[in-house]
Amino acid sequence: MTERCSADFYEEVNRSFDKAAAYTDHDPTLLAQIRGCNSVYHVNFPVRRDDGSIEVIQAWRAEHSQHRLPTKGGIRYSMAVCRNEVMALAALMTYKCAVVDVPFGGAKGGIQVSRHAYSEAELERITRRYTFELVRKNFLGPGIDVPAPDFGSGPQEMSWIADTYNTLAPDKLDALACVTGKPVGQGGIRGRTEATGLGVFYGLRHACSFVEDMRVLGLESGLGGKTVVVQGLGNVGYHAAKFLQEGGARLVALAEYEGAIHDPAGLDLERVVAHRAETGSILDYPGAENVAPTARALELDCDILVPAALENQLTAENAPRIRAKIVAEAANGPTTTAAEDILRRRGVFFLPDLYLNAGGVTVSYFEWLKNLSHVRFGRMDKRFEEGLHRRLLASVERVTGGHFTDDENRSLGTGAGELELVYSGLEDTMLSAYEEIRAAQHKHGLGNDVRTAAFVVAIDKIAAAYETRGIWP
Ligand code: NAD
Repeated sequence: MTERCSADFYEEVNRSFDKAAAYTDHDPTLLAQIRGCNSVYHVNFPVRRDDGSIEVIQAWRAEHSQHRLPTKGGIRYSMAVCRNEVMALAALMTYKCAVVDVPFGGAKGGIQVSRHAYSEAELERITRRYTFELVRKNFLGPGIDVPAPDFGSGPQEMSWIADTYNTLAPDKLDALACVTGKPVGQGGIRGRTEATGLGVFYGLRHACSFVEDMRVLGLESGLGGKTVVVQGLGNVGYHAAKFLQEGGARLVALAEYEGAIHDPAGLDLERVVAHRAETGSILDYPGAENVAPTARALELDCDILVPAALENQLTAENAPRIRAKIVAEAANGPTTTAAEDILRRRGVFFLPDLYLNAGGVTVSYFEWLKNLSHVRFGRMDKRFEEGLHRRLLASVERVTGGHFTDDENRSLGTGAGELELVYSGLEDTMLSAYEEIRAAQHKHGLGNDVRTAAFVVAIDKIAAAYETRGIWP
């Protein structure tokens, strides 16, 4: 049974597209081609439960655009998954990849299960069978369509997918590139786990560095001391909260499905996580006030609200009560168009999903490149760089007669390994993309409408990709 289907989500994405398309002068037929979802595969398959009974599972894979190949997007494990939701999420992936210059088309998958209701062995059977069904219809492969984790899935599921694909295509040298977000020992890349949350941090830190943009909001520039509410402490929310806290922001409320906690003096993320591991809930955290229902956390006083759970969390119903000055969309589609209209009229600044949570797909791109090249980033040059740096430091010491401390020698004398290179590539991507979006915002006189500016950037790049094929003039 479907708990809830985001029937309007796809329409929401298309509304944003249409609004942005009006700022471009592309051929209307080309715009229609970019906007439409190219292929959707819906499959039912039986799975044997541990008690011997058989259950029929529904699943989807949507490939929104093949203007670049492979297509790319996560697989969601949730009872709320439906056709519209995967189409909306696949469309967002197309625009997201374009915004951050990741040369992929957009896709998304969904398996309609509540993962907590299944044992590990059952989830493995479901994941392997889903993979088999994708291969059967040519919806999976390093040059075709490359899934990744999303809500309800992680490295374990990705490793089952890679293994199943490998079993079905044993002679394929590039088989590991069929999926990203794998464990490092199975062809994954260092830094992928935290990539989306870290990208949220880089994007927010950069957006908050513009003095003139922050002044309009009545805020100082920089992240230091800014109060933050995070909804969802999964992969994205946890890492976004962690990096924001380390970057000097104050976490005043955290929300999970079981409830929310609030402490204006600031919550210690790691202690909250330890408390949840011990008690099974974030509620009753010492010194904090419980907030019920959990969605009320979205309405608390803060500078930055980070929805990092699911779509449709900020709606026309609760928008009038939202007090945040910045909404940082770590989740996909957390704000309805109606809510954004209400909030932006009040001057609230939005960092939209198609930009802000693109860190995951960016590092997935790096993982895919690593799998295709069969070599870890930094393997060829780390030691060479280290030798060079050490010789440089020694020369400086000789010329100046001074001495570097052990700490300085360590930090200045090392070469970049895979993690440092991934972080550097991710940071550069998030900063460069924001510069492009901000330029489009100013060029088209879009005021504080960052979402429309990001869509304009995406549409222009996708149109250029079609135009270079010679189909459209
Ligand atoms: P996840 O499953 O790791 O975490 C989601 C968290 O939200 C869970 O801890 C869950 O308990 C919590 N949650 C569920 N319902 C809630 C509610 N009503 N209130 C508060 N918390 C609730 O998923 P994730 O990978 O972190 O994805 C979260 C969002 O980020 C999704 O919208 C996803 O599409 C998006 N996203 C994920 C990635 C990625 O790399 N994982 C990349 C881009 C975007």
